[in-house]
Amino acid sequence: PDEAPALHVEEIDVTYGRALSALRSVSLTVPHGGVVALLGANGAGKTTLLRAVSGTLRLHRGAVTAGRIRYGGTVLDGRDPVAAVRAGVVQVPEGRRVFAGLTVDENLRTGGLGLSRRAPAQVREARERVLTLFPRLAERHRQAAGLLSGGEQQMLAIGRALMASPRLLLLDEPSLGLAPLMVERIAEVVREINAQGTAVLLVEQNAGMALSLADHAHVLEVGEVRLSGPAAELARTDAVRRLYLGET
Ligand code: ATP
Repeated sequence: PDEAPALHVEEIDVTYGRALSALRSVSLTVPHGGVVALLGANGAGKTTLLRAVSGTLRLHRGAVTAGRIRYGGTVLDGRDPVAAVRAGVVQVPEGRRVFAGLTVDENLRTGGLGLSRRAPAQVREARERVLTLFPRLAERHRQAAGLLSGGEQQMLAIGRALMASPRLLLLDEPSLGLAPLMVERIAEVVREINAQGTAVLLVEQNAGMALSLADHAHVLEVGEVRLSGPAAELARTDAVRRLYLGET
């Protein structure tokens, strides 16, 4: 396998059903070990881009109709989620969808299921890493996930994705609906995950948080990339400050 794989999204078009165009000629790169943020209003196509990369697009009746998505040596467009997970690419869906009736441990065990022949030692190691990263989950590992707070459920959703030991984590609005302290905690966790060598593609409406974490950022507007650049530079542009950082 490629030692330093990068994600390359090259001029992709995505449509839902027969006609609804969701992305047009979108390109971006996530370098090995990097953090890239994707900003944009509701409906801009951020989630769609993550789905295209993670192979979940088809579950939503969408398709990549032009362009190419590559991760290291693997072509990902038109593939399924198992192919993406095997290549090292895992998405944390929006809305912290955990299995409410299952315990924290059982939820974690559903992570990385696409990776068949993993040695039990590898699975144990992944679990240890997750529980070290999220001490709250360690304390509550036997509790039903539905009883966790919103922030804890978001952590569980991230933890479950980490069980597959991804090299690229796709995070869809991890801060959504969380109190400021919990948002800061999630930001710390993303930093920590990245420091351990996992690249992150972060979709956020919380532009302040995203730009503080990312090296590079892109702004999507109705299916097209409008602005791209180093995160620190984008944070200084008038359009981003007005529209996404709430400044006047
Ligand atoms: P949000 O922050 O609201 O999730 P987003 O930037 O992630 O917004 P997408 O969810 O990717 O945007 O949606 C992009 C466009 O595709 C929107 O016009 C949306 O209505 C449409 N869309 C999304 N999912 C589907 C689907 N399963 N079928 C048809 N159209 C869809």
